[in-house]
Amino acid sequence: MNQVLNPATEETIAELPEATVEEADRAVAAAKAAFPAWRAVSPPDRGRLLRRLATLVEETSEELAQLETSNVGKPISDSRAEATMVADVFHFYAGAVDKHHGETIPVSGGIDMTFREPLGVVGLITPWNFPMNIASWKLGPSLACGNTVVLKPAELTPLSAIRLGELVLEAGIPEGVVNVVVGPGRTVGQRLVEHRDVAKIGFTGSTEIGRGVMQAAAGTIKRVTLELGGKSANVVFADADLERAAASAPSAAFGNAGQDCCARSRILVERSAYDRFLDLLVEAAGGLRVGDPRDESTEMGPLISAEHRERVSSYVNGNVVFSGNVPNGSGFWFPPMLVEASNDDRVAREEVFGPVAAVIPFEGEEEAVRLANDTPYGLSGSIWTEDGARALRVARAIDSGVLSVNSNTSVRVSTPFGGFKQSGFGRELGLHALDGYSEVKNLYIATG
Ligand code: NDP
Repeated sequence: MNQVLNPATEETIAELPEATVEEADRAVAAAKAAFPAWRAVSPPDRGRLLRRLATLVEETSEELAQLETSNVGKPISDSRAEATMVADVFHFYAGAVDKHHGETIPVSGGIDMTFREPLGVVGLITPWNFPMNIASWKLGPSLACGNTVVLKPAELTPLSAIRLGELVLEAGIPEGVVNVVVGPGRTVGQRLVEHRDVAKIGFTGSTEIGRGVMQAAAGTIKRVTLELGGKSANVVFADADLERAAASAPSAAFGNAGQDCCARSRILVERSAYDRFLDLLVEAAGGLRVGDPRDESTEMGPLISAEHRERVSSYVNGNVVFSGNVPNGSGFWFPPMLVEASNDDRVAREEVFGPVAAVIPFEGEEEAVRLANDTPYGLSGSIWTEDGARALRVARAIDSGVLSVNSNTSVRVSTPFGGFKQSGFGRELGLHALDGYSEVKNLYIATG
C-alpha cells in the first residue's frame, strides 16, 4: 500500500494500492485500443472535449487546489493559481487543435504536402513538486494531437492526477484515452519507458532519472521530452532597481519551498551594489510568511518528505546570512536560508531543491555571463538592469531555455518552456509543445 502523506502534518491522507508492471501493461493496452477511434475524432470535436475538460477544471478548481495543498504542502494561494493554470492550459490546447497544421511545399512534377500525425500511445511521467500543473502541460498537447495517454504521477503526490483522470471521463473523453497508473517509478515508470507499444515519453523529473529514461528509451528508439533539473541564476546589476529585485528574489528562490526546477537559487550580484543589495535581500527574506499552507497569507510551506529534508540540510555548511523561522511540531519544515558562497561551492553547483539560495558577487558583465553559464544546467534565469541593450546582450549570452528581464517569472501557458544543456530538451507549453507530440509526414503526389 502507498501511504500518501500531508507534508505539513505528516498525517496519512490516503492509502492507495501500488500498481504493478502488469497493470502498467494493461493501461498501455487500453490506450492502444483507444487510439484508432481517438485519432479519428475530428479536430473541432477534440477541441470541444478539451474545452469541456477545461470548464470542469474551473468548476472543480477549489477542490483541486485543496487536494494539491494537502498532498504537496504548497500554500493554498499557489494551489489556486495552479488550478487556474490547469484550466487555462486545456483551454489553450482546445483552441490549438486546428492551428497546428501542415504545409504545401513547392516541388517539381507534383504537389508536396505535410501532415501532423499523432504518435500513438504516449507515457507521461511527472514529479511531485507541481503534480497537477505538469500533468496538464503534457496532457493538453498529447490529447490535442490525437494521442492516447498513460499518466504516471509521482507516488508521493498522486491525488490531483487521479482527480484529473476522473474529470477527463466526466468531460466525455472516451475511456482508454487517458489512463492514470499510480506505481513506483523504478517498476511502473521504467516499464512505460521500455514498452514497445509506447511511442513517446514526456518526462519531468531529476536529471539523474532523466538520464536513465533516455538510455532505456533507446531500446525502442522512443521519442523523449525531458524537463529536468535547474540551477538558475538571478543576475542583479548595480544599475538595477535594487529594491524591486530584492523584493522579488526570495519568492523566486523559496517559492514552493525551493522545490522548483526554475528556482533562482544562485543570486549573482554586481560587487559595487553587493552590500546594499544583501541588506535589502535579507530584509525581504525576513518578510516571507512560512507556515500552515491552508492559511491564505502563507507564502512558503514545508518540504515534501523527511528524507528530502535530510538531503536539503546537507547543503547548509557555508556562511549563512539569513535563516527564517518555521513552525514547531509535526511537518517537514525547513527554514528559508541565504548563504554567501562562491560559484564553486556545492550549494551553488548542485540542485538543492529546497529553500537554500547562494548569494555570489561578480565583477562586470563578462563575469556575470561566465558565472551564469558555469553550471551543467540551463533552465531559467533572470537579469535585473535598467540598461536595455545590456539586458538583451546578457540574455542572448546565457545558455538557458527561459529567461526574464526585471522579472522572475518563467512559465506562461502560451510560451515555450524547457531547458538547455542537462536541464533537458523538448519544449512544453505554447504551440511548441505540439511538435513534441506529433510526427511530420511528407506526402508527394505526382501530377504529371
Ligand atoms: P524524480 O526524477 O525522482 O522522479 C520523477 C518521476 O519519475 C516520478 O514520477 C518518479 O516516480 C519517476 N521515476 C523514478 N524512477 C524512474 C525510472 N527508473 N523510470 C521511469 N520513471 C521513473 O524527480 P522528483 O519527483 O524527485 O522531482 C524533482 C525533480 O524534478 C527535480 O530535479 C526538478 O528539478 C525536476 N523538475 C523539472 C522540471 C522541469 O520542467 N524542468 C519541473 C519540475 C521538476 P516515483 O517518484 O513515483 O517513484
